[in-house]
Amino acid sequence: MSLTRSLERIQLECINCHTRIPLDRHVSGCPNCGENILEARYDFGQMNVGEWVGSLNRRRNNLWRYREVLPIQHAENIITLGEGGTPLIKSHALASSLGLKHLYIKDERQGPTASFKDRQATVAISALKEMGVEELVVASTGNVAIAYAAYCARAGIKLWAFFPSLTPGDKMREAALYGAEVIKITGTYDQTKELAARFAKSKGLFLDRGIKSVAAIEAMKTMAYEIAEQLGDEFENGERWRAPDWFLQGVSGGMGPIGVGKGFREMLDFGLVDKMPAMGIVQSTGCAPMTEAWKRGQRIATPIENPQTIIATLATGNPGRAYELLYDYVHDYGGTFTSASDEEAFEATVILARMDGISVEPATAVTFAGLIRMVRERRIKADEIVVVNCSGHTISVEKRILGDAWQHSVDLSDQVHQPTLPEEGLLSALQQVESGVRKIAIVEDNVDAARLMQRILAAQGNYDIQVAHNGAEGVGLVQTMRPDMVVTDLMMPDVDGFSLIEALKADKTTANIPIVVVTAKELTAQERKRLDGQIDMLLQKGSFLDEDFIQSLVTRLDS
Ligand SMILES: *Cc1c(COP(=O)(O)O)cnc(C)c1O
Ligand SMILES: [Zn+2]
Repeated sequence: MSLTRSLERIQLECINCHTRIPLDRHVSGCPNCGENILEARYDFGQMNVGEWVGSLNRRRNNLWRYREVLPIQHAENIITLGEGGTPLIKSHALASSLGLKHLYIKDERQGPTASFKDRQATVAISALKEMGVEELVVASTGNVAIAYAAYCARAGIKLWAFFPSLTPGDKMREAALYGAEVIKITGTYDQTKELAARFAKSKGLFLDRGIKSVAAIEAMKTMAYEIAEQLGDEFENGERWRAPDWFLQGVSGGMGPIGVGKGFREMLDFGLVDKMPAMGIVQSTGCAPMTEAWKRGQRIATPIENPQTIIATLATGNPGRAYELLYDYVHDYGGTFTSASDEEAFEATVILARMDGISVEPATAVTFAGLIRMVRERRIKADEIVVVNCSGHTISVEKRILGDAWQHSVDLSDQVHQPTLPEEGLLSALQQVESGVRKIAIVEDNVDAARLMQRILAAQGNYDIQVAHNGAEGVGLVQTMRPDMVVTDLMMPDVDGFSLIEALKADKTTANIPIVVVTAKELTAQERKRLDGQIDMLLQKGSFLDEDFIQSLVTRLDS
């Protein structure tokens, strides 16, 4: 069959009212009821499912062998690194120590960037390429951004990757290596997502929609197709496909099991499998909103505001709609939600490595710790077929390759208890970064610091930079120069930075000039209040005179 099909081949169906609409870049919800989760539906046209399965044997063993059930219209838009087609490894030692006869490890570490997010990346980035998207914003605890960065590099799409500070530096470096703009947010993952969304909106950039992304769910479901095919080889001589009794995964946002669940539902409808697997959802105990809600019998999860786990990959505090979908799945088809502590996960890492020769990242180890727990609690029976999503391998990048200028830092740590992000400051600071500044006034009493900033800025482009060495001189300079940006210190003799800012704000002709404050001083609450709403960016202490930070900031000015 031909790969290029008509647009009508793929439709989107509202999960709430089942209205169908064509696949289109601009669709973000159901036109009938407003539901924002839509599922892809495929028309096989003249071909029947038996023929389709027969044709698979002639195809390469990667994710795109299932292209008729993936949301891409034209094969030439596919961005691939050979992802998918990962082995289903039979466990011997761990299985027998747990008394399990059929324990299988779906080895997603073997993807191009070493996690199952490669599936999401190949489908999502191909879809974005097909839609003509050129710039993309994503918030990630690590692996999504790494995978997206690699595929974006191939697609020629610019990626802005926002990470919470809990993400290991090695992972952020990996994304930077692929050319992504790395922005580290000192705050929770949920705050990071919110800031990324505002950034995308303010700049009119495409934002990755996570669970609401059709491509992501469709990508994850290919794991189900592969598992059914592979278990068919294992148990049915390849004559039929087969669903396992259990699918287990360590869960954060829940994209994996939601996609896998959809895959099995499709195969059940096609008559390719005869049952749905039970779902074993494992969360990190320090961030287990789904598991806690499940225990209380609730279909809506209460968000965890301050996750208490060092396993960044699983630190989604607010699972939102994803939990409702998973709740319904487990309610309808069986399974359970459980959790494992960081310590249990680290123990499981060592057990799995020593027994089966498989080294996993902590998020994956949580799944194995959950497996051990579910076997001990006799939820999983000895002769059941169990498939564990071995979701990721830890990667580290040689630090010296990148130098120090590979990330931008934004500190939200003193806002953790506030439900929303403050309007002022952060976004305008981020916007500022690209606003095409040409004339800069530096007000700084420390001669060395002033010279350093001047040198860094001058190295970056053809800026008109002038320096004043105290506040009074600064006011005069700004009035005569009319710069596009003022960079000022706070602590200066006589007229200090606070007074300078007040003077500039009080004068109509200078009030709108963006002000960046750099200071080595830790600000008191009162001082912060004084600056509140007056300035566009605060570079404090560590980042002050952090040459590379300013440098990378300035790099943005002209890009
Ligand atoms: C993303 C990720 C998870 C969690 O996946 P979700 O299905 O999105 O909750 C688990 N393990 C690894 C290695 C991951 O990258
Ligand atoms: Zn609807």
